[in-house]
Amino acid sequence: FNRFLHDHPTSTKLLLLSSLSSGGVVAYAEGKKSVSPQEITQKKRVVVLGTGWAGTSFLKDLDISTYDVQVVSPRNYFAFTPLLPSVTCGTVEARSIVEPVRNIIKKRNGEIKFWEAECLKIDPVKKSVLCRSNIDENLAGNNEFSLEYDYLVIAIGAKVNTFNTPGVMENCHFLKEVEDAQRIRRAVIDCFEKAVLPGLTEEERRTNLHFVIVGGGPTGVEFAAELHDFVHEDLVNIYPSVGDLVRITVIQSGDHILNTFDERISSFAESKFQRDGIEVLTGHRVMSVSDRMINMTAKSTGEDVAIPHGMVVWSTGVGTRPVIQDLMEQIDQGNRRILATDEWLRVKGCADVYALGDCTTVDQKKIVEDISEIFRAADKDNSGTLTIEEFQDVIEDVVIRYPQVELYLKSKHLFSVSDLLKDMYSNNREEIDIEEFKSALSLVDKQTKSLPATAQVAAQQGTYLSSCFNKMEKCKQNPEGPRKFRSGGRHEFRPFRYRHLGQFAPLGGEQAAAELPGDWVSMGRSTQWLWYSVYASKQVSWRTRLLVMGDWSRRYIFGRDSSRI
Ligand code: FAD
Repeated sequence: FNRFLHDHPTSTKLLLLSSLSSGGVVAYAEGKKSVSPQEITQKKRVVVLGTGWAGTSFLKDLDISTYDVQVVSPRNYFAFTPLLPSVTCGTVEARSIVEPVRNIIKKRNGEIKFWEAECLKIDPVKKSVLCRSNIDENLAGNNEFSLEYDYLVIAIGAKVNTFNTPGVMENCHFLKEVEDAQRIRRAVIDCFEKAVLPGLTEEERRTNLHFVIVGGGPTGVEFAAELHDFVHEDLVNIYPSVGDLVRITVIQSGDHILNTFDERISSFAESKFQRDGIEVLTGHRVMSVSDRMINMTAKSTGEDVAIPHGMVVWSTGVGTRPVIQDLMEQIDQGNRRILATDEWLRVKGCADVYALGDCTTVDQKKIVEDISEIFRAADKDNSGTLTIEEFQDVIEDVVIRYPQVELYLKSKHLFSVSDLLKDMYSNNREEIDIEEFKSALSLVDKQTKSLPATAQVAAQQGTYLSSCFNKMEKCKQNPEGPRKFRSGGRHEFRPFRYRHLGQFAPLGGEQAAAELPGDWVSMGRSTQWLWYSVYASKQVSWRTRLLVMGDWSRRYIFGRDSSRI
């Protein structure tokens, strides 16, 4: 190390020393690489990409005394995404739902290093990541740097998915980031200000005040409800001349909105929207969007429909980020839609790399193989059939390993093996034919592609992975591992198991619907109060909790602010 310093000019020494003191950034100077930080620390280096739900919940419980942790994210804050729809209309302010990453780190005595940058490339062979800071290029210093890792935790979430629909990128708003919500807030006010200008025809005013939401999932529905409240509680009083011209339309390609929720919630939401005058256009696929028109096709008739709009919010699910796509190409996952991990959240085909949250899914092919293996193991006499009791065990095993199967069964109101059998076969059986059952289960399988892309899943995965990391060294000393799994062989840790704690759908007008564990469904005003308490309690700090509760009270007393800032 000393010889290296001696051979290099002073500037290089400074760069090198500063990079070492800042926790092991691999600096490149005069084309040469610095001394590996491994030489100055025996701690394993963990690089975490992303400071969203998955990344921060991983960091919260990680035992930093055993790891040298570096975090990379282009945003130096954590955003409480479930309240983003409330930011679009000013019910809650953007700064109330974000917590600076450095505050989170401070609570860990500052031993975690944070770099505000975007990861551009992951090199699983050299075990390094290339990053670029998006901070002002005019500031002194290079914006690109590399980090080496012993373990990499990828938690970079997903990007919006336009399904390559023409014109969507150019003409639609998205609701994914805090900046998106702020943009939408300004755009809504713009539509109203434009609509009241002198010299417009009534048709033009109507067009400007037609708000279209593409996607009838929880985010689209919540935004439609927020917008409806904003318009009817605040904006019609401020812009009385155009209050009657406002139209809100939700376009959904499926038959119902909120189709991942219980059917009772979905129909409650549809009838509430009908009463509120929010149009729901189901069975329509959007083909293209221009600056003024949205073109779609009715799925049942094949008829083309075009409607004028003032603004469109596109909310139709998520896609894979380019850096993940690039990694997938490198590790033979290029033909997949989304990065696959095993049940221990290890990226398949890539040593010491873990992925969690919206950027990944448990490999589906493995699920099918594993379920087949569970069947084969249960069929001890190789008869190709199982008794009801054996079948019961199989189902329990499948459900423990793959909670998404349980979620699916519950969504179909199938709570027991006999319910499942009744659903699959018309007559009662005493024995189950394995092949027949497998083909029936493959239907279930198709519809349980992956865990839902929710904060709940991401946060639980983060907590699970940190507990594995905290036990990792102890387990290495005991390589046989405490548990044995039928198809996975010996492994140190239990596989990740998701616990579904329920989900909410705020529907506006101080009403919400909730699907809670135990098939309990609750709808109406009391559920809205439950929503307030759950979301207040889930805030990551007392600071944001008080800010959010303050915003709710402010909205209640003074209404929402309609300034365009
Ligand atoms: P994210 O939370 O998106 O975090 C990704 C992180 O990675 C961010 O910090 C980002 O800056 C960083 N990053 C991105 N690219 C890079 C890169 N190249 N290099 C390094 N870092 C990078 N879920 C619920 O359970 N309940 C809800 O009510 C709910 N409501 C929602 C409402 C809205 C409007 C939205 C958009 C989502 C909602 N979700 C909800 C879903 C939930 O937000 C996501 O499932 C969750 O954020 C996924 O967590 P994550 O950590 O995987 O990704």
